[in-house]
Amino acid sequence: MIQITMPLNFLGSVYREIRQALVDMGQMFDLLEQPAEVSDKPGAPALRVSGGEVELTDVTFGYDPTRPILKGISVRVGAGESVALVGPSGSGKSTIGRLLFRFYDVNGGSVRIDGQDVRDVTQETLHQAIGVVPQDTVLFNDSIRYNIAYGRDGATEEEIIAAARAAQIHEFIIALPEGYETPVGERGLKLSGGEKQRVGIARTLLKNPPILLLDEATSALDTETEASIQGALKRAGEGRTVLTIAHRLSTIADADRIVVLENGLVVEEGTHDALLERNGRYANLWQRQKSEDAEAA
Ligand code: ADP
Ligand code: MG
Repeated sequence: MIQITMPLNFLGSVYREIRQALVDMGQMFDLLEQPAEVSDKPGAPALRVSGGEVELTDVTFGYDPTRPILKGISVRVGAGESVALVGPSGSGKSTIGRLLFRFYDVNGGSVRIDGQDVRDVTQETLHQAIGVVPQDTVLFNDSIRYNIAYGRDGATEEEIIAAARAAQIHEFIIALPEGYETPVGERGLKLSGGEKQRVGIARTLLKNPPILLLDEATSALDTETEASIQGALKRAGEGRTVLTIAHRLSTIADADRIVVLENGLVVEEGTHDALLERNGRYANLWQRQKSEDAEAA
């Protein structure tokens, strides 16, 4: 018996580590199939985060260098600032997230966090600094507690509950007959899209990263659920640098700044009000989404 369970446990823990790396980094980008194509420089130092400023400077990038996706993009997210990226599907929004994680290296320009080029620091510390709330949180076939605690090894009961409260899922959990011990996932309780997303938010809050990368693909959720997720995401972003990849413009209207991407370039940048005033690309996207919403209602 021992001979069998020991190697299985060992394999389990290796599997868990691989999963963790893939889930944390790759989930929101549906990157599970993509290998990391970069490696640490010999003797690379740890990333030292002071405020969590993110700065892309003149970034050019193409998955295939002959087909550029980003054609000279500069975006700065100041420490503690909240910036939303919007633009048509395929405009390169998720690609910017991938470059921030250094899944790929830029072809030109640079991506910096607090002044440090992401190519110069260890990937491990880079990934620790960035929390992702994916659009589709993967649940493990384990208790809901495990699924939240997964955000950080050694989290205390108080920390788990605080994260669940901030993600607005605590009340839901304690109303379950088995509370935090309730098995979830494919072989347990099936959670709704909104509940899963809140578990994902709690998991990320427990990780407590200075930088948050949000994917707001909440279109599959009903309006009420979406509103409550928005509340949880807003709380999650307090005191952090937040880069939001926005799908529904209504959810990012109060971002400090909105950056509009099109054909690999930043075509507009400003607050929601300033961009509406300008009556350009953003105003156009906004009008279109409003009439789509009206049709759907
Ligand atoms: P967005 O998030 O704005 O919808 P993406 O950043 O995902 O856009 O994609 C930008 C462009 O890059 C698209 O044309 C897409 O087809 C292409 N692309 C995305 N991922 C890959 C990849 N792994 N390999 C090659 N092309 C890709
Ligand atoms: Mg995308």
